[in-house]
Amino acid sequence: MLFQESFDLVLRDAHLRGHAVPQDIGIIDGRIAVIGRISAGMGRQEEAIDGRLVLPGFVDTHVHLDKSCLLCRCGNAGGGLKGAIAAVARLKQDYTVEDVYARGARTIEMAIGKGTMHMRTHVEVDPRAGLRSFEAMKQLRQNYAFALDLSICVFPQEGMLNDPGTEELLEQALVEGADLLGGCPYTDSDPSGQMERLFAMATRHDLDLDFHVDFDLDPSWTHLEEICERTETAGWQGRVAVGHATKLAAMDEAVFERLIARVAQAGVAVTALPSTDLYLNGRDAGFRAVRGVAPVHLLKQRGIIASIASNNVLNPFTPFGDCSLLRMANLYANLMHLGPEDFAACLDLVSEDAARLMRIEGYGLAIGAKADIIVMDGEEEAEVFGGLCDPMMGFKHGRKSFVKPAATLFRP
Ligand SMILES: [Zn+2]
Repeated sequence: MLFQESFDLVLRDAHLRGHAVPQDIGIIDGRIAVIGRISAGMGRQEEAIDGRLVLPGFVDTHVHLDKSCLLCRCGNAGGGLKGAIAAVARLKQDYTVEDVYARGARTIEMAIGKGTMHMRTHVEVDPRAGLRSFEAMKQLRQNYAFALDLSICVFPQEGMLNDPGTEELLEQALVEGADLLGGCPYTDSDPSGQMERLFAMATRHDLDLDFHVDFDLDPSWTHLEEICERTETAGWQGRVAVGHATKLAAMDEAVFERLIARVAQAGVAVTALPSTDLYLNGRDAGFRAVRGVAPVHLLKQRGIIASIASNNVLNPFTPFGDCSLLRMANLYANLMHLGPEDFAACLDLVSEDAARLMRIEGYGLAIGAKADIIVMDGEEEAEVFGGLCDPMMGFKHGRKSFVKPAATLFRP
């Protein structure tokens, strides 16, 4: 069938996952209206895709914009998690809205160029940072909406019950436009108390929750089970995610299977942060360190909503980063011994699955979905994934939001 209607934008000869031959994509009012063959000249604007792979924009479910790009300002002499938290804690009392905005903008622009179109940022709110970082995030959310949907998750990085004033500031941020609430029980003097309060706040404000959980490799205890219990008690199934869950990388198989069955039952989602988790875990084991990354592809196979995300970029927690989710999923595949037959699932973990975790409406390349589309510089999915092909351009709500031309060679 040849579609004859007119469109705001037509993408010509795009290779979509699951389609044997290239398709045209017709877009009206920022949504995908048609996938098929479209008559010539039916788009007010047309773009030749020339058989390249198109994907829905990537979804980064876990990034710390407020402490990104601090590499030149502080190191991490201790090397581990405590050293990183302390290094940032020393800096953040001097944060200004302008400073946080500038570093966040640099990170967001990197992410846009790598094809990310949705991002959940965790933002530290406590008496040292006040609401300054949160204010900067609100400005970033507004000023970059043309290219990226930013979701703001406020959370207490250094504990809540041990840090008077933090809960009140979080409460204020929720009233003033935060999109969801985060937690970090392992740094609290009363982890259970923190979880109890945060669940109460989230249900009162009707908001999703996203916890930093179990950031070590000791399998003898975990907060994950308590989060599952509280999720069920609150009736918040499908609305709670956890990040790190590194203990899942260190458990015996029987304990692992029992725990993830519990996670699946409670409808809790899990995000792996490969770069940070590799960098900060297992340091006491020297060159025999275990990898410390939750095996989220196995969780996905058990029906758990899972994702892979960036977490930290160029700071004491992770002195690396270019915000590329494709690179992060590729890194994950490397360390989990996954091959080409698993690449599609890894791609899901930074796109479709990540979108389910964030409960993004209208995500994907389907009729009626939002036209948030990236064009990769390659044709075959396995080669794009394995070869880390960058996106060449992106369309947000059906409007071109960036281009990134391939290198031009000047032959002699
Ligand atoms: Zn984090």
